[in-house]
Amino acid sequence: MARRKYVVGNWKMNGTKAALDEAQAIFAATKDHDAVDVALCPPFTLIGPMIAAAPGAAVGGQDCHSAASGAFTGSVAAPMLADIGASLVIVGHSERREGCGESDAEVKAKAEAALTAGLSVILCVGEPRGVRESGGAIDYVLAQIAGSLPAEFDPSRLAIAYEPIWAIGTGLVPTVDDVAAMHGAIREKLGQQAGAGAAEGMRILYGGSVNAENAAELLDAGDVDGALVGGASLTAAKFVPIVAAAAAL
Ligand code: PEP
Repeated sequence: MARRKYVVGNWKMNGTKAALDEAQAIFAATKDHDAVDVALCPPFTLIGPMIAAAPGAAVGGQDCHSAASGAFTGSVAAPMLADIGASLVIVGHSERREGCGESDAEVKAKAEAALTAGLSVILCVGEPRGVRESGGAIDYVLAQIAGSLPAEFDPSRLAIAYEPIWAIGTGLVPTVDDVAAMHGAIREKLGQQAGAGAAEGMRILYGGSVNAENAAELLDAGDVDGALVGGASLTAAKFVPIVAAAAAL
């Protein structure tokens, strides 16, 4: 089964209303790439304004709480994201796993809450540098999947993003062979854990220092269905060529 390419921009804690022009430019320039699904995940404050500025575009959150409501100061629930028109959310990004101490169980609960709210989910996994250097990257990532994959899900609404922590924002990228080996291992694990149909239907994105120069090679690696892009998603000039590279495959 052919999986559509998926290129998602994670704006992290960047952007104010002044950046909406850039988002409009990105969606305008990529809407004709029929074979590629494109989404942007800006800070919470820009989700509503971005949807208003680019009607019909896929806009999502970078995190959500696992509860639907409650006494969780500063948090945003999945139904709240759906309520303002978000269609997706990233969960388990390493900057939250590491910076906020999120466990696999917590990431799983967030993913399940998001799916229940009707959102699509991008579930991030990835190893630290020391684990890669010691040869344990695949075991580490498969254990993250074992602990954070929702119990039940529609494969078309759940994507995995493999993001080696040492590649995020550093300009370092794994070799294409290492990316293909990891993605192949992830797909095999998804088959064991969720069934062959789920593994076949789920998209596995690569993330970590993707840019216009390396996108074609990374996106063409085995079992890579798209990219989660941080720094290079902030401007149309850097992001649109990545989408174009996906469309050209
Ligand atoms: C990310 O944080 O999801 C990411 C991939 O960042 P960058 O592209 O900047 O490495």
